[in-house]
Amino acid sequence: MSMDAPVPLLDLKAQFAGIKDEVMAAVARVFEEQSFILGPHVARAEQDLAAFTGAKHALGVSSGTDALLLSLMALGIGPGDGVITTPFTFFATVGSIVRLGARPLFADIDPLTYNLAPQEVERLLARRDLPARPKAMIPVHLYGQSADMGPLLELARRHNLMVVEDGAQAIGAVYPGPAGNASLGTLGHTGCFSFFPSKNLGGAGDGGLITSADDELAARLKSMRTHGSHPNEKYRHIHLGGNFRLDAVQAAVVAAKLPHLSAWSEARRQNAADYDRLFQESGLVARGKVVLPHRAWPQVPESHVFNQYVIRAARRDQLMAALGQAKIGHAVYYPIPMHLLECFAGLGGAPGDLPVAEKAAKEVLAIPIYPELSMAQKERVVQAVADFYKG
Ligand SMILES: *Cc1c(COP(=O)(O)O)cnc(C)c1O
Repeated sequence: MSMDAPVPLLDLKAQFAGIKDEVMAAVARVFEEQSFILGPHVARAEQDLAAFTGAKHALGVSSGTDALLLSLMALGIGPGDGVITTPFTFFATVGSIVRLGARPLFADIDPLTYNLAPQEVERLLARRDLPARPKAMIPVHLYGQSADMGPLLELARRHNLMVVEDGAQAIGAVYPGPAGNASLGTLGHTGCFSFFPSKNLGGAGDGGLITSADDELAARLKSMRTHGSHPNEKYRHIHLGGNFRLDAVQAAVVAAKLPHLSAWSEARRQNAADYDRLFQESGLVARGKVVLPHRAWPQVPESHVFNQYVIRAARRDQLMAALGQAKIGHAVYYPIPMHLLECFAGLGGAPGDLPVAEKAAKEVLAIPIYPELSMAQKERVVQAVADFYKG
């Protein structure tokens, strides 16, 4: 690689080159069988994903967004209900709450991990002036690192809240609890995952997964995924559901890729460790220009699957312009905290409400972390960042 070759933020072609035969064979089987709706490929993917996540039930759905929406629907969240969540997440977390007529109740994030801060949730729950009664909580495992589930679940238990984990960025990661490592998606009433192509386990289009340990809830989710149908009788609808199915082509792709996921997560962690070392050696950390991603549980590497490697950077927007010039992929996840989005203006959020999230939105920057990244590419990324701060 020449020293000025572009480094993309994500290179799905590099991944596909190594698995093309397996993926195309799986897709071909779906076409041979002409079985596109649910059927054996979806069932097989669900079995494999249940085994992989350690969840009792795994249900393929149409997207990560729909996993969240359907979870909240099946838990009976509706108009007037409050749902505690983070303002520093992808839109879908909060969009799914508001679409049901429920009200997001934002608690600020931890400045090191960017995940929901348990002490902020506790403070929120102590308030007497909440605009809605809290019924549920959606912790997000942002960037691939587990939220601090122990204290969050304890608060949920004390306040009788249902818990929906947004694990869209964190499939395969664990929460290191007192009883050992727990797979994400097995801690809440449901766990929600996404097969959007840029996620760690990406399909060839949209797809998602809901995990649950609860038999009754799983049966309701399964019914609601197909218009609330009765399990055995056609055209008898027992719930108000919708079309939330995972399609068979996506299921086949995801099942073909799943055996590689652990190795890909390990490669992402290795890339993260290499970046840490390169940034330390560059002097940028000591000079306060760059803050490295914080591992909440450094003794348990599996607690982070690095869907993103996110630094905090001084003069972030100028650095982005320099990286653009150098053809180095980068992105901001996320530039506007949810309470300041124009579409949620009706909720009355204002600048200053959630200062930790607002500051993070101005400073964070994701750089390439995909598994196939070479050492030369990582060195080039860090060099380009160092070059910017030399000027
Ligand atoms: C990607 C993502 C989603 C939505 O998943 P889709 O499959 O794109 O609908 C939800 N929450 C978070 C945190 C995400 O990163």
